Amino acid sequence: MKILISADMEGATGVTWPADVLPGTPQWERCRSMFTSDVNAAVLGFFDGGADEVLVNEAHWTMRNLLLEQLDERTQMLTGRHKSLSMVEGVQHGDVDGIAFVGYHAGAGMEGVLAHTYLANSITGVWLDDVRASEGLLNARVVAEYGVPVVLVTGDDVACEDALGYAPEALKVAVKDHVSRYAAVCRTPARTAADIRAAAKEAARLAARQQPVQAGPFTVALEFDAEHLAMAATVVPGVGRIGERKVAYTSGTMYEGIRTFKAVTTIVSAAVEEQYG
Ligand SMILES: [Zn+2]
Repeated sequence: MKILISADMEGATGVTWPADVLPGTPQWERCRSMFTSDVNAAVLGFFDGGADEVLVNEAHWTMRNLLLEQLDERTQMLTGRHKSLSMVEGVQHGDVDGIAFVGYHAGAGMEGVLAHTYLANSITGVWLDDVRASEGLLNARVVAEYGVPVVLVTGDDVACEDALGYAPEALKVAVKDHVSRYAAVCRTPARTAADIRAAAKEAARLAARQQPVQAGPFTVALEFDAEHLAMAATVVPGVGRIGERKVAYTSGTMYEGIRTFKAVTTIVSAAVEEQYG
């Protein structure tokens, strides 16, 4: 049994503030160890549950945050950016039986600690076929095309609630309870590691490749916090304007859908203005 862990940082233990997840800050240095603790707990739990192989795919920002030297020696880690499936890279080779979303968070426009979908503030909403979409939902649709079930989700309580929509069967572990975008009641790394390890052990039982799901075509809509960002996004072929600050596109598969999404966010992030006023 091979498990893939897609590891994001905003939903990690102790994380509630932008500097906590911004590479190079003293707070990030401190929080990366708690992030690593969450991931390692999942690794240990999956091995407890009978996994033969666990691959960790870093999925946050520059994708260079986890402390490899603190991970269980049986695991391997895919670190660094430019991967064709980004946050769920590694799922496409036909050998993964289940995927875990560790450190996930609520989507843009939702309540939840550091809630966003790819870009922190510039994207104010994403909809997949008219349903408000988090990164968890988008990635769940991608992995379904490869027949891989989502078996475990960790993050704040809102991220866990969000996961009920896209992975109802998956085990969920809330490592903190949302109070506001930048505040949460946090449990300690010792406590959350025990919770995640126990859930991952249980989740290993759900890991079994399924029939690939081809549910497309998918229509993805994005709303931005400024009109010129919608204008900028339409540079990407197939992306059209549907409102003053909104664009949409349709893709035959979620594989294509997520790649177009990446192109849009890359173009848009280059068009975000400095602060003034
Ligand atoms: Zn992230």
